Amino acid sequence: MAARSAFRIAVFPGDGIGREVTEPCIELMQAAVRRTGNLSLSFERLPAGAATWRETGEALPKTSMAAARRADAILLACMGDPAIRYPDGTEIAPQLDLRFDLGLYAGVRPVFAIPGVAPVLADPRAPTIDFVLIRESTEGLFASRGKGILEGDREARETLVITRTVSERLFDFAFRLARSRKERGRPGVVTCVDKANVFTAFAFFRKVFDERVALNPDLGARHAYVDATALDMVRRPWDLDVLVTENMFGDILSDLGAGLMGGLGFAPSADIGDSHAVFQPCHGSAPDIAGKGFANPAAMILSGAMLLDWLGERHGVPSCALAGGLLRRSVDAAFAGGGLKPRETGGGDGTMAIVRAVSAALAELPLAED
Ligand code: NAD
Repeated sequence: MAARSAFRIAVFPGDGIGREVTEPCIELMQAAVRRTGNLSLSFERLPAGAATWRETGEALPKTSMAAARRADAILLACMGDPAIRYPDGTEIAPQLDLRFDLGLYAGVRPVFAIPGVAPVLADPRAPTIDFVLIRESTEGLFASRGKGILEGDREARETLVITRTVSERLFDFAFRLARSRKERGRPGVVTCVDKANVFTAFAFFRKVFDERVALNPDLGARHAYVDATALDMVRRPWDLDVLVTENMFGDILSDLGAGLMGGLGFAPSADIGDSHAVFQPCHGSAPDIAGKGFANPAAMILSGAMLLDWLGERHGVPSCALAGGLLRRSVDAAFAGGGLKPRETGGGDGTMAIVRAVSAALAELPLAED
């Protein structure tokens, strides 16, 4: 059977700065794909988010959800507006519905130093930071979303859920990722991050992890408590490889990871399930800078590169991976040398200056790495 050469991408520009970083990302993805000469991508823009909820009463319209299900992959910028809330005080967050509805259990949050971006840590090893945090994204404390109980004005409760089925899939995903990283020279060690010293749910999480460790004797495995992990992410992040954790812990630690990269505007992510995947920057809609042209588009562009990698691997299409690699190397080349400084890191370069620099690098770099 001939390899596929055309893919349909569902796009959610969402809210706030999402609308500013989406179109440049699509243009750069198209430019990278054009360089392969044998691939085509089509993008279908779909409404969802806080503004959509305010306008239509639906946060994630059924037609948008159906189109996302039909697509080969989903590109999402960011959603939410702290000023728009449900009556119980929680925010409109359809990006979480997508994760639950499409079974996207593996939230992949890579944390790596980008050459030319000033390291946040002064240690000489900071430029070697390269680890991946895998955040379970369909259960944990987030399983309680929309089900929290408020008793009068006295007490509130939420329940954390860990299931064997999802945990086994999650750990297997983590071991597969560690194995592929080991083939590229990384240590091949998975660390289960939990709070098994205090909570039954986390003791169970750790027990299931240990069962999967036994099935992966070629890889290393460790345990760490989440509080100690927060310390290690600052004290010795260059020693970390693959971390796997519960949804809420991962939510918090992934922002710490983004901080290590220089800010949320650099941190890409993917939420991956068995049949679907969503690619989106770690950042939110940043209402403090929305509309000012300050948003760093790097995280969005790098998420687009992850999307191309995933499509290539899933469908056995090397050109997709080449386009993803080209996009990633173009971001590296744009920042290399330290001349390009986003507003986020105290510099003067806004969204379009960064897009232009990435675009110029993309036009010049060879398609394949030497
Ligand atoms: P945020 O990520 O939007 O912003 C946090 C800080 O980082 C702000 O100072 C912002 O200016 C800065 N920042 C974020 N992205 C940036 C970028 N690309 N370039 C430069 N600076 C950037 O987090 P928040 O302020 O806590 O949340 C704002 C809204 O986004 C809320 O409604 C929240 O619910 C939502 N949110 C959505 C997602 C998502 O869609 N996945 C994730 C987090 C927050």
